[in-house]
Amino acid sequence: MAPTSEGSPAGTGEQSGSTAGSVADRGLGTPLERLPGVGTARARRLERLGLVTIADALMHFPRDYRDFSGAHAVADLVEGEHASVAGDVADVRTRTTAAGRPLLTIRLACRDGSVRAAWFNMPFLAKRFAVGMRVVIAGPPRRSAGGWEFAHPEVRWLATGEADHASDWLPIYPLTEGVQQPHVRAAVQAAVEHGAVAAIEAFPPEMLAAKGLLPIAAALREIHLPGDRARLDAARRRFVYQELFMLQLALRIHRGRQQARRSAPVITVDARLDHRIRGRFPFELTAGQRRVAAEIVADMGRGEPMNRLLQGDVGSGKTALAVYAMLATVATRVPGAEPAQRYQAVLMAPTELLARQHAATLGRLLAGSGVDVCLLVGGQPARERKAAAARIAAGTAPLVVGTQALLATGVRFARPGLVVIDEQHRFGVLQRAVLQQGDGDPHTLVMTATPIPRTIAHAVYGDLDVSVLDETPPGRQPVATYRVEPGQTDDWWEFFARKLRDGRQGYVVVPAVDESARGLASVAGAFEQLANGPLEAFRLGLVHGRLKTAEREEVMERFRAGDIDVLVATSLIEVGIDVPRATLMTILDAESFGLAQLHQLRGRVARGAVQGICGALVADAATPHPRIAAFVASTDGFQLAEQDLLLRGTGDLVGTRQSGAPPLFLADLLRDTALVAEARGDARELFERDPLLADPSLARIRELIEARWGATLGLGRVG
Ligand code: ADP
Ligand code: MG
Repeated sequence: MAPTSEGSPAGTGEQSGSTAGSVADRGLGTPLERLPGVGTARARRLERLGLVTIADALMHFPRDYRDFSGAHAVADLVEGEHASVAGDVADVRTRTTAAGRPLLTIRLACRDGSVRAAWFNMPFLAKRFAVGMRVVIAGPPRRSAGGWEFAHPEVRWLATGEADHASDWLPIYPLTEGVQQPHVRAAVQAAVEHGAVAAIEAFPPEMLAAKGLLPIAAALREIHLPGDRARLDAARRRFVYQELFMLQLALRIHRGRQQARRSAPVITVDARLDHRIRGRFPFELTAGQRRVAAEIVADMGRGEPMNRLLQGDVGSGKTALAVYAMLATVATRVPGAEPAQRYQAVLMAPTELLARQHAATLGRLLAGSGVDVCLLVGGQPARERKAAAARIAAGTAPLVVGTQALLATGVRFARPGLVVIDEQHRFGVLQRAVLQQGDGDPHTLVMTATPIPRTIAHAVYGDLDVSVLDETPPGRQPVATYRVEPGQTDDWWEFFARKLRDGRQGYVVVPAVDESARGLASVAGAFEQLANGPLEAFRLGLVHGRLKTAEREEVMERFRAGDIDVLVATSLIEVGIDVPRATLMTILDAESFGLAQLHQLRGRVARGAVQGICGALVADAATPHPRIAAFVASTDGFQLAEQDLLLRGTGDLVGTRQSGAPPLFLADLLRDTALVAEARGDARELFERDPLLADPSLARIRELIEARWGATLGLGRVG
């Protein structure tokens, strides 16, 4: 693609100026292909990004912006760092390189020196430059023998009129395969030109004024074609506020209804029951666990639904608390029902592997008690799943463990008393609410090893109570963690093998299931290499997501039983797997994992009394990787999670990505703490004033909340 259209953000094609007149017949639902400059072929491709109508394009927000202001001085350029300089074209040259490729170079006289720009294979571009023209180029510069050079920079012509409504801030849109940046830009800009004014304002005018929010049409324009930094910030602030406000309001409404119903079962734990439950564990609860158990007991005895988040680092023993709460629940009789009828407790895990492990743990703890555990996961034969669903619905399954399949199959619980959700950040925002749509309002306990800053917890869950498990079970030692460079791998494997011979078990974690273009180690390839190389003396097992459930289970079982020394696995084992005798880990291509994920992985070898050992193999010794450095330097999950959030943003954490909602700017939640608090306060105030959102000026807010959160929160019609 020629950089010309990159350089002209005003790619709205031949049409111009007729916006106002065309709005009526170009509603927000107008297909993009009807817009000038888009066309059928491009429209088909844009569908891959979910962009079909003008409204879709308007809501396809840039994920970033490039400075295109031309404000950089030559003296300030830094190798490889994006910059944009303005200057006069002083020289234009085309020649053919030794390799036979046409090369275009221009020299730009800038205010404090000169730079060069070069393009291969774009001879036609030469016609667009003439000596004396004023242009802005943008991209990462490189220092060459002849001074600073930009290879294939983006260009904006200042003199030709093309720049009239060009922005200093070039939007960078999320893309997908086969869809190019200039095409998305052109389509979105056409949508802005033709549709932004038709967008419906959600906020009543007095609210816009009171909060100093940009009206929707202006905000859409500035988010896509920012005039300057300040206007971009104002647009962004409007959308962040809007999203947070809507979410907070939805949560208030949900919570208001929940409290109004007050139908949560009263679960009372007296000294005898407490003693009986604790007696089931093969260990004494730590002081921290006892404290959290007491908090849970207090919540569940109150007759209002518990809504508690339990945060505790990897290995801190959260499962025991889930089990405690579940056993208390199933020990409680349903009032007024036959004596045999008791409440049900369900534990939801993010992966099938983990669900099966939890079911096995529960099964072991309850051996001989007569209470059995019902498993429901997607990998079961349909017949088994149906049978499980039937028992759940009939109330004959007191303890249920499962995955998202529990949501997908629309299973209904006969007498739901408690829902425990393990590692919730993987579920997507508020899916837990779906489980609250049974006949009663069960208590909810959400467990996570990823410490969620309070502000974010509030933004995502509304008013929930937080318990922190800040102490690990006795005898734990921090995992010794090493960064292993390519030149040290032989030594590493020798060390790993020696530890295996001492009787330990271990994991080798591989990033991807198949061979990817970037040359990430494939799990099968890695297995082969290890089995025929450094680990040939040992019994190896292999698990990855493509294996059939039964096969995977069998391998895991043999590993647990000690019949396998080393488990080669994908990050499938990341969350929750608990095999105390496995205390060794090697992570291949460690750079390709996120920090939180690395910490979760390492948590697998921090379970026993023996000190765990973890090697993070990096493929490239030259690059100092900040994530790996942080990982090696600290075993404190809270500290790492904080760094991770800073390195990565919070989008993954709150799961908005999976939930299919446009991520908007939630990724900066960490920095928008003030706005979170503001939106929360405003939502509460509005709710208290008008809980049904009955005022006609709130109609649009009501509609948006119903559309976005209605199904998830079971709000139905709000008004
Ligand atoms: P996580 O918080 O990561 O889910 P788990 O609940 O899986 O951690 O617990 C990690 C390990 O610690 C398990 O092997 C579990 O049996 C053990 N454990 C939990 N609580 C205690 C305790 N109070 N004393 C000794 N070991 C414990
Ligand atoms: Mg766990």
